[in-house]
Amino acid sequence: MSRLLVVEDDDTIGSALRSTLAASGHDVRRVSTGRDAVASVDSEPPDLILLDLGLPDMDGFTVCRELRARLPLAVIVVLTARTDQLDVVSGLESGADDYLTKPFRTIELLARVRAHLRRVDTTIPSAVARDPLIFGALILEPAARRVSLGGHPMELTGREFDLLARLVREPGVAIPRETLMAEVWDHNWYGSTKTLDVHIASLRRRLREAGASMGIDTREHPQIVTLRGHGYRFELNPADRSG
Ligand code: CA
Repeated sequence: MSRLLVVEDDDTIGSALRSTLAASGHDVRRVSTGRDAVASVDSEPPDLILLDLGLPDMDGFTVCRELRARLPLAVIVVLTARTDQLDVVSGLESGADDYLTKPFRTIELLARVRAHLRRVDTTIPSAVARDPLIFGALILEPAARRVSLGGHPMELTGREFDLLARLVREPGVAIPRETLMAEVWDHNWYGSTKTLDVHIASLRRRLREAGASMGIDTREHPQIVTLRGHGYRFELNPADRSG
């Protein structure tokens, strides 16, 4: 049984979410304020959080950041009433793994929650999949969910780790956006790939920052190359490979 936390101040939506998710066999708690959400997770850490961004007491992005700081591995899905893409991007940049725009259909909510929890539960099947992956100055240890660049540990969210692990498994290979969405988020049937763009941007920033702080030889510095209209390719600094 997975532990879910619903952070929603609207009683109608909050209790509907709670009963729907409880009916699917989850252990669901609901709180109505950002403060209660942050205060509750230390004693009862949830596997997945549904976080309404429009809360009465705290800014939703601040709540998201505080929850992420306390729970590096929990799945955080933000709920936003606004279709404003800025909200979505800010939510993802605050540490959310995914988002749902209100109003959403129950079937969509349940599919999304199921997909995220399956990923949390997934135990890596083969010994090979647990071996450290080394690419340039990057070392990724799937079993420990640890990653470092030039010996400098990188702090990644759960989904950023999964995305980087997927990219580093096939360096030099063009990987379509749909493949990354399907394999890292499990919901290739949804139209928007904004989530992927934001996570790629965040990974690039973290790789750049880690590389800069360690003064890594650029030839050892992996990069995520955008393939317009297709997807991404993970490779060592292309500008320096000829040398
Ligand atoms: Ca609200």
